[in-house]
Amino acid sequence: MSNDREKSKTYLWCGNCRRSFAHEDAVTGFCPVCGTELREMGKFSAILRGLMANELVASDLRTKHRQLVRLIWTRNGMGERYYRVLAPDIPYNKFEARVTELLCRGADEGWVKIVIPPAPSPDDSQYKIEFDDEERFVRELEAVAVK
Ligand SMILES: [Zn+2]
Repeated sequence: MSNDREKSKTYLWCGNCRRSFAHEDAVTGFCPVCGTELREMGKFSAILRGLMANELVASDLRTKHRQLVRLIWTRNGMGERYYRVLAPDIPYNKFEARVTELLCRGADEGWVKIVIPPAPSPDDSQYKIEFDDEERFVRELEAVAVK
């Protein structure tokens, strides 16, 4: 209470909720939402932490991630080549979307590896898709084509 001017420059941070509170909103020093003891930190630091915890951009990133996977497996006409070999009874666009989904699921389940260089590279060969289980990919690809 001795230094109100200092207090206006700091916030109270809840590490559990990943958000900050103004001093007047948490006079006890404990989080009003979850009850965790709050940590005092500078305004700027609290704002930055709030931004870092923010998941607003997540859905857009997920879409871009999927687009990148699609670009990798379809490049150099590979998408069309798969399409011709499998000759599925669906339009190419749909086929492309399904195979992309399959690859993303495979990566999630661990039998597909999506390889991306640490920084954007002009060398396309650094972007690739590897299969831990090729048999499985072929099997699932056939299933995608006849579905
Ligand atoms: Zn909390």
